[in-house]
Amino acid sequence: MDTRKSPGARSRSTTTPVVQTSVSPAPDGEYAARDAWVSLIGGHPALDLVNTVSWRLDPARRTDRLATHDDLITWSTRAALIETACYTGLSLPSPKSAERTLTRVRALRENAYLALCDHLAGRPVDAGVLDTLRAALSSALRGAPAAPAFPLRLAVRPTDATQIPDAIEASLFDLFVLQDLARLRECQGTGCGWLYLDRSRNRSRRWCSSTDCGNRHRVHQFATRARSSLDTAASSATDAPSPSRPVAP
Ligand SMILES: [Zn+2]
Repeated sequence: MDTRKSPGARSRSTTTPVVQTSVSPAPDGEYAARDAWVSLIGGHPALDLVNTVSWRLDPARRTDRLATHDDLITWSTRAALIETACYTGLSLPSPKSAERTLTRVRALRENAYLALCDHLAGRPVDAGVLDTLRAALSSALRGAPAAPAFPLRLAVRPTDATQIPDAIEASLFDLFVLQDLARLRECQGTGCGWLYLDRSRNRSRRWCSSTDCGNRHRVHQFATRARSSLDTAASSATDAPSPSRPVAP
C-alpha cells in the first residue's frame, strides 16, 4: 500500500460548478476505505489524474493506481468527476466496455503527463503527443456543454461510467487552455514525479506535500547531517596524538 497520505484539505476547484474538488463526506465505511489511496494535491483535477501514478520516476516503486475499472470509479468519485450520490447508482458496464474506458483514461493521462513534462522542460511538445492532446481538447469542445452559470466553462456530469473520459477531456481543456501553466511544478522529492500548480504567493512550493516528500527530505537532511557530524568526530579522534603509554615501573 502506498504510504503517501492524502492531505486533509483539498484545493479549491477551478473547473466548473459540476466538476469540483470537494465532495460530500463518505457515505459509508466501505467507500472511505476504498478511496484512502487517492491524493488530490495537484490543484487541478487533470493534474490529480496524472498523479494517479505514484513514484513515477522510481521504476522500483512505480505504481499505477488506476489498475482496474473500480479504481477509476473510486478516483473519479473522490475527484468529484462523479457526484458521490451517484457512486452506488452507476450501472456496471460490460467488462469490454470497462476495459475500453480504462484504456482511454490511461492514454489521456499519459499524453497529458508527457505534454506537461515537455512544457516544464521548456521544449516543444512531442508531435504525436500534441496531436492526441489536440484531438482530446477538440472532442471536449464538441461534446461538453458550457456550465449553466458563470464561469462558463465546459461541464460534464457523467451519469454513466463510460462518460468519465468525456469529463476528463473537459478537465484537460480547462488545464491546458485556461490555467496558468507558468505555475506548473514537479515535486522535488526523489523519485516522486507528481505535478501540481504552485499557487503559493511567492511561488516557492517545492513538494507535492510538505508532510510527505517535504518531511522525507527533512528526515534525510537530518540523517545526512548526523552522519557527517559522526564522521567528523571519528576523524578527529583518529588524527589526535596517541596518549603516551605509561612506563612500567
Ligand atoms: Zn512528492
